[in-house]
Amino acid sequence: MKPIVTRFAPSPSGFLHLGNARTALFSLLAALPDGRFLLRIEDTDRARVSPVFTDAVLADLDWLGLGAYIDHQAIWRQSAREAIYRGQLDRLSQLGLSYPCFCSPAELAHEREQLRARGLPPRYSGRCARLPESEVKARLARGEPAAWRFRVPGGETVCFVDRVRGPQTVPADTLGDFVVARASGEPMFFFANAIDDALAGVTLVLRGEDHLPNTPRQILLLNALKLPVPEYGHLPLVLGESGVPLSKREGAASVAELREQGFLPLAIVNYLARLGAAIACEDLADLKELAGVFSVDHIGRSPAHFDRQQLLHWQRLALARMPDETLVAWLPAEVPAQARAAFVRAVRPNVLFARDFAYWAAVIYGAAPVTIGTAAGEALQAVGRPFFDIALGALADRTPPGELPGRLKAAGIGGKRLFHALRAALTGSLEGPEMRDLLVLMPPDIISRRLMDAVGVLC
Ligand code: GLU
Repeated sequence: MKPIVTRFAPSPSGFLHLGNARTALFSLLAALPDGRFLLRIEDTDRARVSPVFTDAVLADLDWLGLGAYIDHQAIWRQSAREAIYRGQLDRLSQLGLSYPCFCSPAELAHEREQLRARGLPPRYSGRCARLPESEVKARLARGEPAAWRFRVPGGETVCFVDRVRGPQTVPADTLGDFVVARASGEPMFFFANAIDDALAGVTLVLRGEDHLPNTPRQILLLNALKLPVPEYGHLPLVLGESGVPLSKREGAASVAELREQGFLPLAIVNYLARLGAAIACEDLADLKELAGVFSVDHIGRSPAHFDRQQLLHWQRLALARMPDETLVAWLPAEVPAQARAAFVRAVRPNVLFARDFAYWAAVIYGAAPVTIGTAAGEALQAVGRPFFDIALGALADRTPPGELPGRLKAAGIGGKRLFHALRAALTGSLEGPEMRDLLVLMPPDIISRRLMDAVGVLC
């Protein structure tokens, strides 16, 4: 069997958003373990693309771990391949399969309007296809601007099996002779895109379903040029939580945004691998493991919905897999050197993001008072002032903080009430690391300060 060759072909007109990242991931997973995964930068639309975004997309792919599978020497940039497209456009015209179209934009708009008024689909009438050769030559010789149109073969039907959407049948006549190169000579995007897929030996194109209408055109062109036609699979959109498509223009959910929010690449990859695809694996998996359970045949046909709770689930699992030593490097400076390992062990069950370590560092080592939440406030009221007098008295007598619960219990305040009140005073909340650990980590002067602050809240 021929190895699978897939590709990801971003247009660098913005940051990599989750929909595109998923397309890249599915394309890689479809190619692993034996195939090739190519990257092509579709940067011909000079008004919209920017090298800044090309770099950002490459950086995001690297960060997600996909970059390791890309042959960086073999990245094609379409802006450097114009001569190749022009060569293929020339071949098409030499084969008599394309012709210049002199119709002005106004004429074409008028023609479309008339068709619409008659309830017909707006496709080109083929007027310039019927011009006498002598006239064509003369008009070209005069330098009259002309786009180039593909001569769509009449009566043919384009049939292909979309790997996601199943069999597709498109009568070629419904397409009308379509433009392959603008009057400027610039090839149409879908022309260059199809040529590159064929020349790179791509066997499977996975891409967003917005490109489905291009597919019959691309198949006709590749057949006409006797170039190999890949298989296609069109992925349903990824919709945001509000139900509208995630898109760069809306600035929604880019990989960069998620990175800034503290999500781990492994969490994003595991989330995306299951976004709109059924995968027989509920555990956190690396790219190779995911490839082992991924199948193009298990990509769903309905739109996928971004679900932050699911992403958080994978974040939890990805974080749980991080070794303590790695997490130590995430800690802010205020965690003292000798306490860093113990701090990570105590706090990590309460952490989802790096910034959560900073939060707990501020609670445990910070001079500023903690904010007492409603439930915490009630826990303080439940024990009242004597509780804090006993605790503060014990600390003043140099009782080690770890012995505070025992002292308080001996004074008749025990059980849940004791631990809730102590936790509320020390952290402002009723949830967090084990009290035993907190009392060891927190410097005694901070503990005293927190207890005094709690007394202030009670007054
Ligand atoms: N450059 C196109 C895009 O970013 C992709 C086209 C394709 O995958 O065929 O939407």
